[in-house]
Amino acid sequence: MLKNYAEIAAEEVFDEVLAQLRKQRPELCGCRRCREDVLAVALNRLPAKYIATDKGEIFTRVDFSRVGGKAEIIASLIHGFELVNKHPRHQ
Ligand SMILES: [Zn+2]
Repeated sequence: MLKNYAEIAAEEVFDEVLAQLRKQRPELCGCRRCREDVLAVALNRLPAKYIATDKGEIFTRVDFSRVGGKAEIIASLIHGFELVNKHPRHQ
């Protein structure tokens, strides 16, 4: 099964980044729609890093060095939050 490791890494830090940003901007939405929109924006900016996995394989610890470092992932997510917050598409 093919997986984009950048996606795994972005999902891993998503809640952490949202919690940090909410200290300054408590209005930031983390609903399912906004979450997926933010991840889509972030992942479209990050180079895809496809890996082959076994079905159901769980990644207990994400190795950020495989996707250009944690800071890179966080920066892309922050960009995503800014964009989605300006034009939220949730109901
Ligand atoms: Zn929302």
